[in-house]
Amino acid sequence: MSAPILYESHCHTPLCHHAYGEPAEYAARAEARGLQGIIFTCHCPLPDGFSAHVRMAPEQYEDYVALVAAAREKFTGRVDVRLGLESDYYPGVEPWLEKLHARHPLHHILGSVHPQVPEYRQAWFKGDWFAYQQTYFEHLAMAAETGLFDTLAHPDLIKNEAPHEWDLARIQPYVERALDRIAATGVAMELNTSGRQKVIREFNPNPSRLRLMQARGIPVVLGADAHIPERVGEGYEDAMASLQTAGCAEISFSLDRKRQTVAITDAFASLTPATAMHGIRP
Ligand SMILES: [Zn+2]
Ligand SMILES: [Zn+2]
Repeated sequence: MSAPILYESHCHTPLCHHAYGEPAEYAARAEARGLQGIIFTCHCPLPDGFSAHVRMAPEQYEDYVALVAAAREKFTGRVDVRLGLESDYYPGVEPWLEKLHARHPLHHILGSVHPQVPEYRQAWFKGDWFAYQQTYFEHLAMAAETGLFDTLAHPDLIKNEAPHEWDLARIQPYVERALDRIAATGVAMELNTSGRQKVIREFNPNPSRLRLMQARGIPVVLGADAHIPERVGEGYEDAMASLQTAGCAEISFSLDRKRQTVAITDAFASLTPATAMHGIRP
């Protein structure tokens, strides 16, 4: 095993009401997994009560910043704890996010289109699942073009909304057009390992999407999307293997909102296998 070089780039805190465990427990897990650091990216506050039940309230944003700062302090010299954010994208939210992102220095901003959020669905679902899938990929491309985000999170999440309506060949032209636009912005895309727990049990995105991303030179960021400490760094070896199969030799993460890139072979060598982990101390 070599020195830690990888980061967990997507994880949550109890402030979003559907994640469990204190930041220190997530950080301890990152340390035990052989990660150099962990970037907290909890669900951003949104205006007008939009999706309020699964995120911190606007007045809790300072609490979030303090919570991550306390974990950073506690883990000094052990694991590099950083402040990030998972911000929802939908047309019209841009001015809110611009102000929010400017309040404190952030290390990694995920841009997420969440088609399962009732308020989003009410605004954009018109009764036709295929049209809803097209809207999702259109919004992903628009998100990248705002310049507000470093990485697009779980970029095929829509497939789980109506799995019986998910037809890869049918949606492919829309996906490719979105990927062309995303590639032109330089924004990265996430390989999110939590997809294996969803209805369609595969990473987000799946291997065929990874090949399309790789063909366009879109950087890939790994994220477990941990809502419990045990999932920090979960599935990273499998994720990196699928990236290699797609022809990709590097993975990226973001610090100070600047892209860092490491070789997958080095990243592999730096991880502690999940089966060998012991002595976690939060
Ligand atoms: Zn969540
Ligand atoms: Zn998300």
